[in-house]
Amino acid sequence: MNMETIKLICIGCPMGCDLTVETENGVPVSVSGNTCPIGKKYAEEEVTAPKRTVTSTALSDVGVPVPVKTAAAVPKDRIFDVVRDIKAARPSLPVEIGDVVVPDAAGVGVPVVATKRVAAER
Ligand code: SF4
Repeated sequence: MNMETIKLICIGCPMGCDLTVETENGVPVSVSGNTCPIGKKYAEEEVTAPKRTVTSTALSDVGVPVPVKTAAAVPKDRIFDVVRDIKAARPSLPVEIGDVVVPDAAGVGVPVVATKRVAAER
């Protein structure tokens, strides 16, 4: 049996709790140091299928930058593909906060949404 102790800092909120995850054959069996359930979930995901929210910038159809982010965290090993789809998008202006810029980035089932209102050019 392969047991491992992994130290992490929770990114769930600014408290940044120090987490300790015990794994057996790569499977998390205990989490300690978390102040709330978010830390436990984060730790378990981080050692099995790590995810991150992606923030980036798309270019509108007239070349104006549109700040965007994924509406939820996406698998870390798919971030490159998500960014590629963001760079290929050409949203039409105006764009409102929350407008979907890419419906299903890289096929991971998470939309990419605008994080800033961008008015149409006059
Ligand atoms: S465990 Fe909870 S309280 Fe601690 S950093 Fe994570 S989200 Fe914040």
